[in-house]
Amino acid sequence: MHELGIASSVLEAVRAEAQQHPGARVLRVGVRVGELAGVDPEALTFCFESLVKGTEFEFLALVVESTPRRHRCSQCDRTFAVVDYKLACPDCGETVTRCVGGDELELSYLEVETP
Ligand SMILES: [Zn+2]
Repeated sequence: MHELGIASSVLEAVRAEAQQHPGARVLRVGVRVGELAGVDPEALTFCFESLVKGTEFEFLALVVESTPRRHRCSQCDRTFAVVDYKLACPDCGETVTRCVGGDELELSYLEVETP
């Protein structure tokens, strides 16, 4: 499963970060997942929870933030979120727009508690 690989790389990143803050507890990790990334947020959360179960990161919460597909207008240069597959520019109505985002898959933040 695709999500399992992602969950374990997230956990690896958290582990690496935790090593730089000895004694600190990582409470929460945020992941930004674009709608075009082909990742199921629920499956990702499920995989993550099963990975951390019984480890030192058992109480670490994964927060998946979904981001929409974004397009940029070729006329007025406005960037907008695509809703319901409407690809035309909401400002000027131009139909030639280019996909500029929505396939990201990245860590957005780590919430660390220092003693
Ligand atoms: Zn426009």
